[in-house]
Amino acid sequence: MTKKLKILFVSSEVVPYAKTGGLADVAGALPLALNTLGVDVRIALPKYRGITVEANEDSLGGKVPVYFIENSNYYDREYLYSTPEGDYLDNLERFVFFSQEVLKRTKKENFKPDIIHCNDWQTALIPVYLKTIYSNDEFFKNTKIIFTIHNLAYQGLFEQKEWSKIGLPKELCNIDGLEYYGKINLMKGGLIFSDFITTVSPNYIKEIQTEEYGFGMEGILNSRTDVLKGIINGIDYEIWNPDKDSKIPQNYNIKTLDKKTTNKQHLQTETNMSIGRDIPLIGAIGRLTDQKGWDLIAEVIDEICQKDLQMIILGTGEKKYHKLMDKIAAKYPLKTSINLKFDATLAQKIYAASDMFLMPSKFEPCGLGQLISYRYGSVPVARATGGLKDTITDLTEDPVHGTGFLFQEYTSQELLKTIERALESYKNRRIWRNLQKRIIKANYSWQYSAKEYLKLYHNVTKTLQNPVNVR
Ligand code: ADP
Repeated sequence: MTKKLKILFVSSEVVPYAKTGGLADVAGALPLALNTLGVDVRIALPKYRGITVEANEDSLGGKVPVYFIENSNYYDREYLYSTPEGDYLDNLERFVFFSQEVLKRTKKENFKPDIIHCNDWQTALIPVYLKTIYSNDEFFKNTKIIFTIHNLAYQGLFEQKEWSKIGLPKELCNIDGLEYYGKINLMKGGLIFSDFITTVSPNYIKEIQTEEYGFGMEGILNSRTDVLKGIINGIDYEIWNPDKDSKIPQNYNIKTLDKKTTNKQHLQTETNMSIGRDIPLIGAIGRLTDQKGWDLIAEVIDEICQKDLQMIILGTGEKKYHKLMDKIAAKYPLKTSINLKFDATLAQKIYAASDMFLMPSKFEPCGLGQLISYRYGSVPVARATGGLKDTITDLTEDPVHGTGFLFQEYTSQELLKTIERALESYKNRRIWRNLQKRIIKANYSWQYSAKEYLKLYHNVTKTLQNPVNVR
């Protein structure tokens, strides 16, 4: 019998324990899918407030052990990384502690990973520690590091005067190390010291090697093209399932799509919008930031709201967009429902109720909203960037295989035109129903992508010719 591959999956958020965005969805689903493929995978996560597991039940889905890293001073807080006023001031200490403790814990558990799979800046010091201060440690002699970029825009930047908190030699605080324009950049360390780097879609890995999308990291990425790969995210088909979803008023599937409108009517009632099964309902869920295209939405929100449609928005983000949305809610009470909060149950109701799902992102590493909306028969209206471009085919360009509506140029007029195109198609019941059936059939479960990761793990452990050496 071949030896089981051992993977330690490290993430600062994991569904169902803690979530602010897509990273948590991935970290809660990919390890389970790997477990099904026969991998001995374990997860490490900070023990935030609200996580109430007992020592004997700390496993995900009863299958994947979770190492909760405890420190009440650092993690027993209302939010994960920041309050509405800004980032926690001790985020460097919080994630230095997490990274160091993860390595200590895996040793204590005597779990010798073939690969430590790190995710985003919060875990980016792990590769640096492993390849420097742990370089002669027998325990990690055969451990390789994979680093996945879920969003290159958040790099973990800190003042240089904080360097001593990291516990690394001074020499590493230079241009070949973690120094970046006078600051400390944790993500940069992850990109230099990992054995392999992935992103969450094939298109995004190409984009981030350019100045436009590289956020200053394009030089390093260009120097490491032999160890870069984009693997598209999946979603958990058990969690996101309109046929079983207990949070939505009316379950439905591809054969009972007519019932989907019951969810629309429920939501219209619940949110005090006017009731009507034929009014096109556009949903938007996510962070209210420029990345997600909110500057475009802001420019044309009035024009959008004057059309024959309804909009339901769920998200939190920049204050200026909160203010704008409050105004819109007051101006169009029957046509809009504005929900400036994080609410997982309402999210499910919106996916189930909406006819269209809006994602006009400036950049989008993968995007999960479009995949979830497929599952619920809600048609994405999105900008052709990153993972959105990989997963959506424009219906006007390809009426046979189309799965949504895409625009290229990042302008509010293009967004508006694309919404208009979607509304036109919506009027034709036959076209719309065929489109819904097509997107519900699209398969973005983890089955495929977990196998891609497994292949990569095998390649990295067996055939990597030039692992990163200590500098
Ligand atoms: P991000 O860049 O924020 O990670 P993704 O599209 O990859 O964006 O994933 C966003 C995930 O977070 C989806 O599961 C989405 O439904 C969820 N989500 C985002 N904002 C909210 C919110 N305010 N309430 C509930 N769920 C949310």
